[in-house]
Amino acid sequence: MRPFRYARATDLAGAVALLARSPQAAFLGGGTNLVDLMKLDVARPDLLIDLRDVTSRSVTELPDGGIRIGAGVSNSDLAADPVIRRRYPVVAQALLNGASTQLRNLATVGGNLLQRTRCPYFQDVTTACNKRDPGTGCSAVEGHHRDLAILGVSPECIATHPSDLAVALAAMDALVQTTGPDGSRTIPLTELHRLPGSTPQRDTVLAHGELITAVDLPPLPFAARSYYRKIRDRASYAFALVSVAAALDLTDGRIRDVRIALGGVAHRPWRATRAEDLLRGGPPTEDRLRRAAEAELADARPLPESAFKVPLARNAVVRTLLDLAATGR
Ligand code: SF4
Repeated sequence: MRPFRYARATDLAGAVALLARSPQAAFLGGGTNLVDLMKLDVARPDLLIDLRDVTSRSVTELPDGGIRIGAGVSNSDLAADPVIRRRYPVVAQALLNGASTQLRNLATVGGNLLQRTRCPYFQDVTTACNKRDPGTGCSAVEGHHRDLAILGVSPECIATHPSDLAVALAAMDALVQTTGPDGSRTIPLTELHRLPGSTPQRDTVLAHGELITAVDLPPLPFAARSYYRKIRDRASYAFALVSVAAALDLTDGRIRDVRIALGGVAHRPWRATRAEDLLRGGPPTEDRLRRAAEAELADARPLPESAFKVPLARNAVVRTLLDLAATGR
């Protein structure tokens, strides 16, 4: 690992100012992804600014009935929070499907959203990778891409975003609170992560020096009937081949409202608005669910090894919504 300096921030404004004037610095939350990338020589910060004393570790109710989650809340604490488990079970389930207990104890909500792709070429500095070294090419397109994206891809990058939590938050219309050199702002979670386009080196819309302070969950009563289904190569400690976060508002046998987001298929959590629009107003029959899922996946551009993800994602959407309609989970 390359030498680096370490600073423990004592206030948010100071942390932002220090990072803004340090082009090669990085914020440190739990460090569960960043430190790995430093060991692999993928990330080379010359200064780590530890945020753990300045980001909130609280989960609080907002005046509008929503929930504010501090960026410093650990994944374990959020998964165990009784309000989250009761009102937004999909969020707790997504967290418990991610990583291992040890990693969840250390990883923070803010860091979880900003973790980087696990594309094997991104993590191997001996290979070409446009995300790691812009302009060098994408080894995955002609190489191994079984785990990679099928939606929103570009010729420059087909990486997937690895976070389970982000998929659940996208389905819940979560809002990300940030602060940076230009002040504070609110970003819809679905707009935080980018598609790769011609600049895959940028994962998010955050500016240098801008940090996540909290994530807000809007009030959504039918989120109590929500579920996270993750399909992966082994039962734990693996990233999603495909995942589905869904919530269902079923009234008199008809879908009054629905939320669907997919993981493991794109450079960002993939909110399935096309499927949602097709489903509202009708019954949750298998045929309707299948047609809605197929419409959502109509623009998929898989490569040979990842073609299986198209039917897998379709079936995962159908199964998840059928289960929610039948049992409430
Ligand atoms: Fe790099 Fe993206 Fe290609 Fe993976 S898919 S090698 S991250 S450019």
